[in-house]
Amino acid sequence: MTTTSNRTSSAGSRGSAASLYQQLRGHLAVLKLDAAAAALPSVLETATAEKWTMTATLEHLLKVEVDATEARRLAGRMRFACLPTGATLADFDFDAAPGLDQALIRELGTCAYLESATNVMLVGPPGTGKTHLAVGLAHAAVHAGYRTYVTTAADLAARCHKAAIEGRWSTTMRFFAGPTLLVIDELGYLPLPAEAASALFQVVAQRYLKTSIVITTNRSVSEWGEVLGDTTVAAAMLDRLLHRSVVLKLDGDSYRLRDHHARNETHRTAIAPSRRPL
Ligand code: ADP
Ligand code: MG
Repeated sequence: MTTTSNRTSSAGSRGSAASLYQQLRGHLAVLKLDAAAAALPSVLETATAEKWTMTATLEHLLKVEVDATEARRLAGRMRFACLPTGATLADFDFDAAPGLDQALIRELGTCAYLESATNVMLVGPPGTGKTHLAVGLAHAAVHAGYRTYVTTAADLAARCHKAAIEGRWSTTMRFFAGPTLLVIDELGYLPLPAEAASALFQVVAQRYLKTSIVITTNRSVSEWGEVLGDTTVAAAMLDRLLHRSVVLKLDGDSYRLRDHHARNETHRTAIAPSRRPL
């Protein structure tokens, strides 16, 4: 008897269903589970209507919060990555890149190479899809949950130069050591300032065997000494970059010019009838 009356008084102290509901809302607010708090009324309503078990109800509610957290983290990684375009591996046209190992690109798309700190070097003339593939790899890495950052060789060199002047060298080096994947686009396009070689070398050296770099270049490795203005640093940098790496050579016609030729062809076809001899 005593036990029953205790139980009754305990339930009474907790209050009615309405106040229990308010307490639950309060717990969710304190724990900052905002998505779960917002979904609570509809989840409870569906749970009652569909006679969900308590476990199923809790699972549904927490799944809402987990989905919201994952979406927020993905958006954060995406913002941090600074992807210059929305290019993905899925919209890369392999027919336009004969000789490129499609299976290897697919394999890279799984991001397994990031676990062994393997580097990827994309070498080829302008317009052959190097940046597209590099950004596609970055996109895949962001979606797989890896902290990723995309920059160009010229931008990296300029930031390091500025950091050295402003006394922020070690902070900047730590920044470039941080992401699991660092994409350095366009090595060789623009002339680099004198101290760029040592900045790039330090970035490569501190990531060596720890985290991956995807680098794109229009210059063959034999020309890197010239690109960096220092053959010794270029050799030391290449040594580290290539030690554990996948090198992809892209050649053939520029995709940009291909588009351009196709457009010309369309225009030619469109105006052709007026040119037909009478
Ligand atoms: P690169 O960096 O080698 O100079 P980009 O990757 O910038 O060349 O390619 C130039 C343009 O052509 C981009 O808009 C890119 O998306 C597109 N492109 C290049 N190759 C392909 C391809 N095989 N499939 C689809 N788009 C491509
Ligand atoms: Mg490019």
